[in-house]
Amino acid sequence: MNIRSFLIIFAMSSLLHSEENFGIVVHGGAGVMSGLSEERQQQIHKKIQETVSEAYEILEKGGSSFDAVELAVSMLEDSPLFNAGRGSVYNSDEVQEMDASIMDGKNRLSGAVASVSTVKNPIKLARKVAEETKHVLLVGEGAERFARDIGVDIVDRNYFYHEERLKRLLNSKNKISKLNENADKIGTVGAVALDKNGNISAATSTGGMTNKMPGRVGDSPIIGSGTWAQNGVCGVSSTGHGEFFIKYQVAREVCVRIEYLNEELSDAAESIINELNDLEASGGLISIDHKGNISAPFNTKGMIRGSQTNKTDLISKIY
Ligand code: ASP
Repeated sequence: MNIRSFLIIFAMSSLLHSEENFGIVVHGGAGVMSGLSEERQQQIHKKIQETVSEAYEILEKGGSSFDAVELAVSMLEDSPLFNAGRGSVYNSDEVQEMDASIMDGKNRLSGAVASVSTVKNPIKLARKVAEETKHVLLVGEGAERFARDIGVDIVDRNYFYHEERLKRLLNSKNKISKLNENADKIGTVGAVALDKNGNISAATSTGGMTNKMPGRVGDSPIIGSGTWAQNGVCGVSSTGHGEFFIKYQVAREVCVRIEYLNEELSDAAESIINELNDLEASGGLISIDHKGNISAPFNTKGMIRGSQTNKTDLISKIY
């Protein structure tokens, strides 16, 4: 082999190598988290680690980031520990109304559902909206009818029954415990991932906020606010006071700063969370850029989160 071909092969292999960065980051909501017992913290760590490692395995085997984020979010929806799917909080009518969205950064394919009450995994339905309809967002009865038509798992409302969440609703209505009100602001779930082909995806799912008005929809199913994914730039999943996240288009804002202002991911992510802090809007976000860098800022006492990339070990953190 002459020196020229050696150099070409060497350059190509290092280029390919740099394109192979991949990883996943998940969150389980941001909040005060002051009432979490040691035992509960251990349960949370275990679930987050299990979720990250299963989603990471998909990426390691060359699978898509879209599959990885859907799996991660559906695993967290199945756990009563988080405010999504099984552990969703109650609205003022004592009903659990759930919202979710998913986005593929390769082609901006997006799907979302809002105010569903009998869909076992709202994130799976959101993906079906993206892939099987001409629409982006389906709500309420129409979304549930679509779930039945397409064969997505429907469960009895009792499946979501959660004694602790119900107590918190009653406390919140009676304004008995300020601590419990704060504790409710945790638990929305989300995931963002970069796969070996450079595709970025993001997904978010929530029961919303305790004692919300029936029909209230937060940022989680809003593409650009709760969820955003854009190949070559970044992917974001948000958690926090949804009304602010909608008004400040938080998820897209992070990517816009990178795209137009050439900011680093951590600067872009931190600046929007600081801006929200100045408005007394609590929350946080997880994000990954096209190089596999991760940033997960929050302005609350804690944010449940975990990650693993081809360059960094599996971690899970609460505070
Ligand atoms: N962002 C969610 C909502 O407003 C709640 C949360 O993330 O805690 O519905």
